[in-house]
Amino acid sequence: MITVLRIGHRPQRDKRITTHVALVARAFGADRIVISEDDERIRDTIASVVRSWGGSFSVEFKSWRSFLSTFDGTVVHLTMYGVPFEEAMDEVRDAPGDLCIVVGAEKVPPEIYQRATHNLAVGNQPHSEVSALALFLDRYFKGAEFSRRYPGAQMRIEPCARGKNVVGVNNGGAHDDT
Ligand code: SAM
Repeated sequence: MITVLRIGHRPQRDKRITTHVALVARAFGADRIVISEDDERIRDTIASVVRSWGGSFSVEFKSWRSFLSTFDGTVVHLTMYGVPFEEAMDEVRDAPGDLCIVVGAEKVPPEIYQRATHNLAVGNQPHSEVSALALFLDRYFKGAEFSRRYPGAQMRIEPCARGKNVVGVNNGGAHDDT
């Protein structure tokens, strides 16, 4: 089970970026996101994506302290101040049990740095929780995340060189919404 823990979400400012963190988490192979501040709009958006595009990705709201106090597994905190993520990737992949990947919004409390099994940097320049998470998961799965199946999808994309080909899974019909 791979959980992304999104800390520091500010509903007024971060709705869009936290939604993107959740979408990346789902599309790049994580199983759920735990968000430290309640925001029903994000739950609704992700529920609608899961309904249409399948899989069992879930969204939960819980304080990070309470989540981490009972979490038993490897905690990776993505931070520009950490050690190069490539160096720890084999160890993280081989670790038994669950994996929790922590990403922040603004300043991350020092307690997280202490609680983390690994503080890992995706390069030592500031960028974004979205890019850091995508790169981390892609290296973790070595690209295999893109072959994942999403059971229960109502539609899927038939890749094509131009235009948009979306296939309805239940009725077998296809439509082009270009
Ligand atoms: N200075 C902030 C801090 O205390 O980490 C950076 C905040 S940044 C806008 C939001 C989040 O993006 C960070 O908490 C971290 O999870 C992620 N992030 C940004 N740059 C990163 C990098 N180079 N490597 C890993 N994670 C990064």
